[in-house]
Amino acid sequence: MLQILATGGTIAGETDLASGSRRYQAGVRTVERLLDNVPELTRVASIRAEQVMALDSKDMHPSDWIRLRGAIRRAEADPAISGIVVLHGTDTLEETAWYLHLTTSGRTPLVLTGAMHPADHPEADGPANLLAAAQLAAATAAQGKGVLIVLHGQIHGARMLSKVRTTGLDAFGSSGAWQQARPAGQFAHLDTPALPPVAILPGYAGAPPELIESCLATGHRGLVLALTGHGSVPATWLPALRQARHQGVAILRASRCTGPVIRNANADDDGEGWLTAGDLPPPKARIALMLALAAGWSHDRMALELPTL
Ligand code: ASP
Repeated sequence: MLQILATGGTIAGETDLASGSRRYQAGVRTVERLLDNVPELTRVASIRAEQVMALDSKDMHPSDWIRLRGAIRRAEADPAISGIVVLHGTDTLEETAWYLHLTTSGRTPLVLTGAMHPADHPEADGPANLLAAAQLAAATAAQGKGVLIVLHGQIHGARMLSKVRTTGLDAFGSSGAWQQARPAGQFAHLDTPALPPVAILPGYAGAPPELIESCLATGHRGLVLALTGHGSVPATWLPALRQARHQGVAILRASRCTGPVIRNANADDDGEGWLTAGDLPPPKARIALMLALAAGWSHDRMALELPTL
């Protein structure tokens, strides 16, 4: 049996008549209505469905990841469930997928999907994506890969996935082949009611140090710096970053470019007490840092292991 967990998104979206049909609202249709629209599902497996939440994924909060993970763990613990499908908005799907990749066991195939057109669009892509996700979750190919994502006929691994296009049905891109994906689950045993606040700060010409100061004033425990080039720290940020370290805030250098930020290669990470992202993009580095802080990892362990997740 497959467990379908719905969280909202455009796949459950409908035209917003109040906007003169120019816009749509995500997360309106119930999971039952979405399933009714895909009768072929019954040929894939028997289905059990749960409406976990009904959000536009731009509004998803780390507390929602924890709630969703709870529903996944209950499904994983049920011997009748052989695969899990999560229906999700595409905007932050890569973040939820990566969080789940790190925090679930990977024993039960787990596939996320969404849609770029709302459910009442004449060319709605949700039904085909839902069917493809169910077929993948039921297939042996999905075993031992960790969290997988299907959209517009393309399969992605959670670590490599990013939303790369604002429009178009093939909105996702991958930095590697999904067949190479492996389960992670480094934080599968972590039980925490909340994740510590970690912000992403953008590096750009003239970026003011007040960005850092405002995060310190609001109690952030970690800062991921989405910097230019090879994680280049603006000189004007140094006093505020040193103050942050003095207050015990974790600082992680990442880049707004594709490619690795290598420890001590472009900054004195050891001297400053900074962490580096390796090739994790800033949103994924942030999730890894939140989990490592929640798990009580030491600075040395974070420095060594975060870039390798
Ligand atoms: N804003 C929507 C969401 O992320 C976009 C989508 O689902 O495609 O929920």
